[in-house]
Amino acid sequence: MIEISKLTKTYDRGTKALKDVNITIDDGEFVFITGRSGSGKSTLIKILLKEVEPTSGRVVVNDMDLRKMPRRYVPKYRRRLGVVFQDFRLLKDKTVYENVAFAQRVIGESSRTIRESVPQMLKMVGLSSKYKFFPHQLSGGEQQRVAIARALINRPEILLADEPTGNLDPHNAMEIMGLLEKINRRGTTVIVVTHSHEIVDLMKKRVITIDRGMVVCDEEESGYHYED
Ligand code: ADP
Ligand code: ADP
Repeated sequence: MIEISKLTKTYDRGTKALKDVNITIDDGEFVFITGRSGSGKSTLIKILLKEVEPTSGRVVVNDMDLRKMPRRYVPKYRRRLGVVFQDFRLLKDKTVYENVAFAQRVIGESSRTIRESVPQMLKMVGLSSKYKFFPHQLSGGEQQRVAIARALINRPEILLADEPTGNLDPHNAMEIMGLLEKINRRGTTVIVVTHSHEIVDLMKKRVITIDRGMVVCDEEESGYHYED
């Protein structure tokens, strides 16, 4: 569960990126965060990843108050969140298999666990036949599937996806959304930042709209509320 209360972020030069934001996301929810460019979406994601410190307010993720979290615990905390980005961020000199396996190696999983879990995860994202491919041999949609497999391999409770379909054509974008929906049905909380009207309108999920740092709309089974 994520509990954000009275969250405010003012950057050094005085830009108020977030103003008195209150959001609660329960376990197992699928939530879109939308809003124009510059509305504060990335700042919110960075605060959740503890890459940016709030100016004031409280952020609690799975019963952990981020403000009180010791610095040495931060890397471990980040690994408990699955994160996916617009630009995939795969390791270019590693195969599909190794990109996913690497996330397990860094936390010291046994070779045996890795050999079992990586093929399962690649099957889940529909990439079993391409495990030996390198990122440049894959389409954008396939690269994002690898990134999703990597984000999920250590079984995070929450998956954060920051514009996951921003580099994809509409067909691949909808396939990725279908995959995120499947992951959500298996119990993972999914939070997707996007400014795609089409996706938000089609998916009929909870939509939190941010405008100039404020939550201006938070509705179930909603659509897009802004003109860009
Ligand atoms: P979005 O993700 O919705 O495009 P951001 O969270 O990136 O919005 O930005 C919100 C506001 O904060 C913008 O006005 C942006 O210019 C400003 N901002 C973002 N990062 C920084 C930073 N590191 N320093 C100063 N201002 C920033
Ligand atoms: P898109 O339709 O997204 O443009 P591509 O044309 O890049 O996709 O790729 C279409 C298919 O061809 C994908 O399944 C991809 O894995 C495969 N492919 C692309 N480049 C190579 C390559 N150099 N070697 C092997 N397979 C490739």
